[in-house]
Amino acid sequence: METKQFKAESKRLLDMMINSIYTHREIFLRELISNASDAIDKIYYKALTDDTLTFDKENYYIKVEADKDKRHLKIIDTGIGMTKDELENNLGTIAKSGSLAFKTENELKDGFDIIGQFGVGFYSAFMVADVVTVISKALGSDEAYKWESKGAEGYTISPCEKDSVGTEIILKIKENTEDENYDEYLEEYRLKAIIKKYSDFIRYPIKMDVTKSRLKEGSDNEYEEYKEEETINSMVPIWRKNKNELKDEDYNNFYAEKRYGFDKPLKHIHISVDGAVRYNAILYIPEKTPFDYYTADYEKGLELYSSGVLIMNKCADLLPDYFSFVKGMVDSEDLSLNISRELLQHDRQLKLIAKNINKKIKSELQSMLKNERDKYEKFYQSFGRQLKFGVYNDFGAHKEELQDLLMFYSSKEKKLVTLEEYVSRMPEDQKYIYYATGETNERIEKLPQTELLSDKGYEILYFTDDIDEFAIKMLMSYKDKEFRSAASGDLGIEADEDQAEIESEQKENKELFDYMKTILDGKVKDVRVSKRLKSHPVCLTTDGAVSIEMEKVLNAMPNSQNIKADKILEINVHHDVFHSLKEAFAKDKEKLSLYTNLLFNQALLIEGLPIEDPVEFTNNICKVMV
Ligand code: ADP
Ligand code: MG
Repeated sequence: METKQFKAESKRLLDMMINSIYTHREIFLRELISNASDAIDKIYYKALTDDTLTFDKENYYIKVEADKDKRHLKIIDTGIGMTKDELENNLGTIAKSGSLAFKTENELKDGFDIIGQFGVGFYSAFMVADVVTVISKALGSDEAYKWESKGAEGYTISPCEKDSVGTEIILKIKENTEDENYDEYLEEYRLKAIIKKYSDFIRYPIKMDVTKSRLKEGSDNEYEEYKEEETINSMVPIWRKNKNELKDEDYNNFYAEKRYGFDKPLKHIHISVDGAVRYNAILYIPEKTPFDYYTADYEKGLELYSSGVLIMNKCADLLPDYFSFVKGMVDSEDLSLNISRELLQHDRQLKLIAKNINKKIKSELQSMLKNERDKYEKFYQSFGRQLKFGVYNDFGAHKEELQDLLMFYSSKEKKLVTLEEYVSRMPEDQKYIYYATGETNERIEKLPQTELLSDKGYEILYFTDDIDEFAIKMLMSYKDKEFRSAASGDLGIEADEDQAEIESEQKENKELFDYMKTILDGKVKDVRVSKRLKSHPVCLTTDGAVSIEMEKVLNAMPNSQNIKADKILEINVHHDVFHSLKEAFAKDKEKLSLYTNLLFNQALLIEGLPIEDPVEFTNNICKVMV
């Protein structure tokens, strides 16, 4: 019998498969099952238009059989089959699968992710088999043919016997090597697991004769094994089911089964779209932050299926970073099984799906915020930070999209509020959206800078997250209201005392303030009369773009540049301490220096900033006491 050569391109791929060092060999089964399913589909579609043909569901299935003694693994289908020519053309050539054409020789040698991510079809059988035999009888044909290949040398085709229409693929599984265990592909439990993992949602039953045991007849303690045919796959994927048929529990089970997370999802989103692009998706918003979520190890992405066949575990292109917490899957008939990662990225269908999903997630979050506030707050505790990063990242490109999902703790409500809520209840005379930063809400509550604002009855948003102020700087304003820090030099408030009085106080005490500035040499930019202090003697505020909180964050970064905020020491001229300052200035400069340093350090402490020399600070306190 003549041995025919593979076409050049096919030979190259075949070589890759045979010599593959790839670890996910198990996907060969996914490929062969998906081909079998395609072959049954072809009959199904033909029957739709061909009156002489009927499609009885019971007659169509895929069967997987393992024979350990012969080392045979068979994949049998009742699909459309192949004629002699088709065997020759379909299995002898593979150039049509576009993915390969776009890869360079080196990429192929190095990466091999082409197999893992997309599979390369029929030839993947050679990853686990020395010999591949295909016996097929095409629909409407009386003859059957056998195609056989041991790999690179080529293949043979010869007539053979086969009763029914369809295809039988026989793999002669390789012997184990030192590094590789091939026996597992003959083990019932492994085969079942692989089928479950990759092909659970194939529309047709995938059957196996499964070993069971039962009591021997007439015995009450002796067991015997027997085989029983079982359907391994669940066939109807949950995402193709009608939403009305499904309960929360079903979605929760799917979440657990898929190991999307170990918590219970807060919310599921079931999408079925049948428009310009057709797809089904089940998405989840987890309740708890995965332990690695805010680390570089976390990988975002959704599972991607093409007509029920898993083609990618984590398709990152489907989710924007700010929704990276979303888990779940997408199945589309419009994506090809053999599409490469590069092509996928540019795939128009995939882009449409991603856009669609993004919109859907956003609207679900919005409605959760509106209708299920408690749930939303739980969500926000876990992932709010990511949304704030989303506002900040990409130079604020997504800020408009995300601003209404943000929440901050409010001085008035003592709970999380949205910007919309804040702005809607702003008094007429209030110009800005005020915020104060600090480590905890309790600490911010006690900040002297907020005294005037609280006095005026203005609501203050508490920023306790590193990212908060950065995000808000990117946002700049909400509904035309600018954000303003409670610690900023200008609060935009007509203070209770009139401006003239403050200015005259400032003028009157100019020498004192200048002197204090020299005492604090370089530590503050200015010493000023405070408009905002009511009961506290001093506080720190800032001029310019960098706030004290930002200084803390920036300097905590690994390669910090020692960035300094322009600090202003504000003095409450109505406080008794101020009179002591004045007196010391007139009579005892050394005392003034002592007081000034003490007050400055106090202000630092209140701000949650470290004081330079704690020992000196405590000594100074003692000096005052003695
Ligand atoms: P793809 O499935 O992407 O077309 P494959 O390498 O998996 O690429 O398969 C090549 C071709 O071989 C298929 O397109 C199909 O025409 C044919 N084929 C493979 N397996 C079967 C089968 N079980 N029944 C009928 N045709 C098959
Ligand atoms: Mg295929």
